[in-house]
Amino acid sequence: MMIEIRNLHKSFGALEVLKGIDVSLDKGKVLVIIGPSGSGKTTLLRCMNLLETPDQGTIKLSDRSLDFQKGRKVSSKEVTELRKRTGMVFQSYNLFPHKTVIENVMEAQITVQKKSKEDARKSSQELLAKVGLGDRGNSYPHQLSGGQQQRVGIARAMAVEPDVLLFDEPTSALDPELVSEVLKVIKQLAIEGRTMVIVTHEMKFAADVADHVLLMDGGYIIEQGHPKDVLNNPQSDRAKQFLNRLT
Ligand code: ADP
Repeated sequence: MMIEIRNLHKSFGALEVLKGIDVSLDKGKVLVIIGPSGSGKTTLLRCMNLLETPDQGTIKLSDRSLDFQKGRKVSSKEVTELRKRTGMVFQSYNLFPHKTVIENVMEAQITVQKKSKEDARKSSQELLAKVGLGDRGNSYPHQLSGGQQQRVGIARAMAVEPDVLLFDEPTSALDPELVSEVLKVIKQLAIEGRTMVIVTHEMKFAADVADHVLLMDGGYIIEQGHPKDVLNNPQSDRAKQFLNRLT
């Protein structure tokens, strides 16, 4: 197993957003998380790299397992260990505006991996070529389209060679005509056997790329399984309602 999450709970003040989540994912597989807005999808994803600290439960990523209890402070070492194992792609790209495209990809290789500038530049150039932007390294983010910026975001997430790539609604900030170029890059990574967790509203993409779909509602997983089963033959009324609304 690459990911094993047990009994995960998270509240914001009095609002309990995750109410006991259990998820497992094998290495090389793609997990897609769907569900209505506010159901806890992004919070679950952000817990996986400790952008949010769970109140209770266990997260195991690759060879590192962390236990959470309310009141226990998570150490910066634990945060670093989990972050090193994950690469995050944000909805709004979050690129450094004053750094060039290639410098954005190099950044974590220099600060986290302690690579030399020369090595970082070489591997960043390869990553940019991989996402179809080999000729845009010296541009600044604002000179690129949203789709291109998000592809830089993907190259940057891969730069530290994480075990798991996490995508938080990677296409929802994009104009419709730019969505497919980003989904194509993600699909290619799936074919190459990257372990990925993707929060998305793109149901066709979910059906196409997922090995496992998790449908959340109100802080619970209400259905999970093979995309064919969850998307085409949901069992619960809530799942049927959610999926019917989309078609
Ligand atoms: P989804 O991704 O399914 O739309 P989220 O995980 O973003 O759901 O949010 C779940 C609930 O938690 C929502 O009600 C949201 O308003 C709330 N929430 C998310 N982040 C915070 C936060 N940092 N502080 C307070 N409430 C939050």
